[in-house]
Order: sequence, then C-alpha cells, then structure tokens
Amino acid sequence: MKWIRVNMSDLSVKVEDVPKKYEQMGGRWLTSSVVADEVPATCHPLGPLNKVVIAPGILSGTTAPSSGRISVGTKSPLTGGIKEANAGAKFGQYLKRMGYSAIIIEGQPKNKESRYLLTVGKEKVELVDATEYKFMGLYELSEKLASKYGKDVGIASVGPAAEHLLAGTGVAFNDVENRPARYAGRGGVGAAFASKGLKAIVVEAVTGQANILNHELFETGRKKLLSALQEHAVTKPGGALNTYGTAVLVNIMNEAGALPTRNFSSGTFEGAKKISGEAMAEAAAKNPKAGMMGHRCHPGCVIGCSVIYPDAQGNSHTSVEYETLWAIGANCGIDDLDAIAQMNSMCNDIGLDTIEFGDAVAVAMEGGLLPFGDAKGAIALLEEVRKGSPLGKIIGSGCGTVGKVFGVRRVPAVKNQGMPAYEPRVVKGIGVTYITTPMGADHTAGYSIAPEILGVGGKFDPHTNEGKVKLSKDFQATTCFIDSTGCCVFTAFAILDIPSGFEGMVEACNAVTGANWTTSDAYNIGLNILNMEHQFNLSAGFTSNDDRPPEFMKLEPVPPHNMVWDMADSELDSIWK
Ligand code: SF4
Repeated sequence: MKWIRVNMSDLSVKVEDVPKKYEQMGGRWLTSSVVADEVPATCHPLGPLNKVVIAPGILSGTTAPSSGRISVGTKSPLTGGIKEANAGAKFGQYLKRMGYSAIIIEGQPKNKESRYLLTVGKEKVELVDATEYKFMGLYELSEKLASKYGKDVGIASVGPAAEHLLAGTGVAFNDVENRPARYAGRGGVGAAFASKGLKAIVVEAVTGQANILNHELFETGRKKLLSALQEHAVTKPGGALNTYGTAVLVNIMNEAGALPTRNFSSGTFEGAKKISGEAMAEAAAKNPKAGMMGHRCHPGCVIGCSVIYPDAQGNSHTSVEYETLWAIGANCGIDDLDAIAQMNSMCNDIGLDTIEFGDAVAVAMEGGLLPFGDAKGAIALLEEVRKGSPLGKIIGSGCGTVGKVFGVRRVPAVKNQGMPAYEPRVVKGIGVTYITTPMGADHTAGYSIAPEILGVGGKFDPHTNEGKVKLSKDFQATTCFIDSTGCCVFTAFAILDIPSGFEGMVEACNAVTGANWTTSDAYNIGLNILNMEHQFNLSAGFTSNDDRPPEFMKLEPVPPHNMVWDMADSELDSIWK
C-alpha cells in the first residue's frame, strides 16, 4: 500500500510506500498511530507542527457491509489532546481502491490568504490553487467541484467556520448524492484541516474493490457479518435504525429521563415527540419526493440509518441525526423540527459540528444572550459564525469558550468538548465513557447506551455505578477496533448480540491484511490503540484531573430522577490500570 504525504509549507506532494509498521492498520488505528509517532504532543494544534491524517478503514473499498467509514486524526484544537473523528462516505472507498491507505497533511503555507485543493486521481496527485473558493459555503463548493471534476467524485472539505479556525468545526464528506452532509464532526478537526490552507480534497471515482489477499476467507467473513446485520432487530432492513433513523432515540431517551434538556438542567423535554424519529418518518411519508427514511451515507451500507427530512416548504435536509435533534432541539428548548433541520443544513454549509454548536448555544442561552426556545435567535447566531464576527467566533469555539465569556458555571464538557445527547448522571456507563475517553466527551467512543438503555449486548441498570468502568472500557476498546476496520459503529449492535458477526468482521480484516487475528486479538488491538491515545494526552500535559466530570454534575441533581454524578474519582482512574 501507499500513502500520500502533502507538505503545505513547500507545497510538495509525495506518494510513499507505507512503512511495514503501519501496513495492517486502517482508520483510527492508523490516524492515531501516525499522530502519536509524528506530532509533538505539546505542539499548537493550529500550527505547522500538527498534522492531519485521513485514513479509510481496513475494509473500506471492499464489499464488506457498512464499511465505508473514513477517519480524520489530528491533535485537537478543541481538547488539546489526540483526536479521531469519522464519517461514512464514498471518499474513503475510492481512496482505498486506488491503493492509498492514508493522506498525511503537514506544514503550513506562508501565505495565510491562499487556499489549496488536493486532487487525487489514478494518474496524478496534485495541489492546485483554490483561493477562488475561500470562505465559500459547502453546498456551493460541492456544486462547483462537481461541475469541474464530475459528480461522482469523493470530496472532503471545510466551511467558512473552519477557515476562521474555530474549534467547533468538522470536516465534511460528500454523500452519495454529492451533498456535504457527512461529518467527521468533533474536536475541531475542521479547523486543523483549514489551518493547513486546504479548502478541499477531491478523489476520483473508482469502481471495483480494494485489494484482498484471501478472497475465500473474505467471502466467509463478509457473509457472517452481513447476516448478523440483517438479522438483528436494530440493524436489519425495516429495523429500528432503518425505519426511524438514529432519531428513534429521542422518545426512548426522554422516557428514560436521560434526554438532556435546556443545558442539562432536566432529563425530559416536553417537546420530545415533535422532534422525534417518528415525527420525521410521518413528514417523509407525506412528502416522499423531498423526504426519505433509510438513506445510506455511502454505497454498501446495509443498515441505512440516515434521514432526509422534508420541511413544510418542501426543502430537503440531509442527515438530521438524533444528536443534532437533541443538541439544537431539546438542549436549547427548541421543539420546531423545521427550524432544527434548517440549522442542521446551515451547520453543514458553514462547517460546524452540530453537537458543539447546540451545546454552545444552550450555554449562551443560560448566560442570558438569548432565551431558551429562541430558534430565530439561534439561526441568527449561525449567520454570525459564518461571518466570523466576534460573537460568531465565540459561539463557533464551543461551549467551554461560551461558558467562560458569559460566566456560566453549568458547562457540560469534558476536556473542553461538549457532551452529546445522553445524561451521564442518569446513565452512568456512558458517563464513564464521556469522562475517560481520550477524545473528550464523546458517545461514539464507547456506546454503553446499548446495554444500559436498549438491552443490546447484555443488560445493565443505567442508574448504578457497579461494573460501569469495566463496561465502558470494554466498549471503548472494541470501538477502537471497529473504528479501525472502517465499519460503522452501528454494526456493534449486531455483533454484540451475534458473536458470528464479530468473527466475520475479524475474518474479513484478516483476508485483507494477511493477519491471523482472533476476536480477542481484535479487543487487544483496540485496547492498545486506547492506551496509545491516552499516552499522547499525558505527553500533551493531561493528568487524571482531565478525566473528571464538570463540577455541577456532582452538585446538582437532575430531574426527574434527581440523580447526581456520584462515582468516586479513584474508580474512574482505575480504567487505566
Ligand atoms: S448505519 Fe448510518 S451512519 Fe452507519 S454507515 Fe450506514 S447510513 Fe452511515
């Protein structure tokens, strides 16, 4: 395999053989390894010493089901620690089929006003001037790039908020229909990408399949994984994710009293039903021309959890996810689905992470900048972010910054990253994940909601602390491996309950890499990735004090269960023993 090394200081592009050490790696394993090996842990995340590593998973570009994830790794401008965020898109599939396992972007151009575009083709990889696209919204950029390079290309791009170098920004990957709606969203990876002077990367479309060493073994593994996904109630065709999208969780979490509402001051939202997956499915059924349930972020996903929501005017809003409905909805006291979908599309266009934006607005609401429930005010704030006004820059920098500026004590963040859509005082295992993951508060790092709320992969009482450190650790290690395969994290629902599915995933990886891993090897690989990421953070200056919840969660009981965070710090620290 090869990788592409782009030096933005001298604008050189090199295609290199992947060193032996990295040959079997993909996705998060590869991005975190290169960042750990090549980025000085104490460097400035927006400076020339940081690097951005973009890597498809081990199985990306093959016919393994739901395996088209692409990882973006860097030192995070939001947390100051190591970061990996991933998205589902054709981009990584094309890259892998072309024989590339990663793109490494390093250095920084002398002229901060210039913008560049990296084009990756079968014949040529080159940097071209893209200053004409500076501060352009991503929908317009996508159209322009599609008309120049063809609408089947894979595109990674950053919006104006990232070009303002704001820490609440992500990298957009275009979906199957060329919409810039699939985000490696968290941790400010967009700002790190933009700090390199890059506006976008365009990858030529490639059909066929990525290189496989053992086709027979691959087919055996692929079929086992596929049948697990098609059998499980959550992931099967017509299953929960396919029917209502990830937004199926709005009503479930609300009923559990764990849907953080009005800046984490309550666990239930009276407007939940209005912003639920069921409400979106009803709207999509009424207007099938503009709306769709079961959309797929990349070719080859067999789950299809994505939603295209049609608003009252018939506009289509792509990828309206549970986390967004919660962040901009319940957490800001907004129950207007059309307004939330509009803000979702605006965030996609501007380049903002919807979770960090929702957390930032909710903290601003608590700080008195605007009232809870003020959708128009929140939309106006997005325009400020797009412009890069002083207020817009504060909002786009995340909830931690907003809390400091507006003197708000209730800031739901760990390692300065805003918490996602699950109340950790009520669901303790996901709290351990938020607090201990090297990524900053991140639900996808170890989704213990599966056994704690959904009864998938076992059954745990969400309200108790017992066994939750081990539960989170097991989920975090397994997730590290899944994030390295290129498989969507939602495959975990099926492989947790159907062991042959996990076996199939590992066998397919063996067929691609020539390895001979067992499922317990896969767990240990995940654990090693986790420890490597933790070590990077320690080298960057983190201590156990960074593995702590925000103080208000220890002091303020959250209704309706009136629970506080009550796990001992020493128990949290035991995760690294
Ligand atoms: S399950 Fe959803 S997020 Fe995952 S790969 Fe499929 S469409 Fe994308």
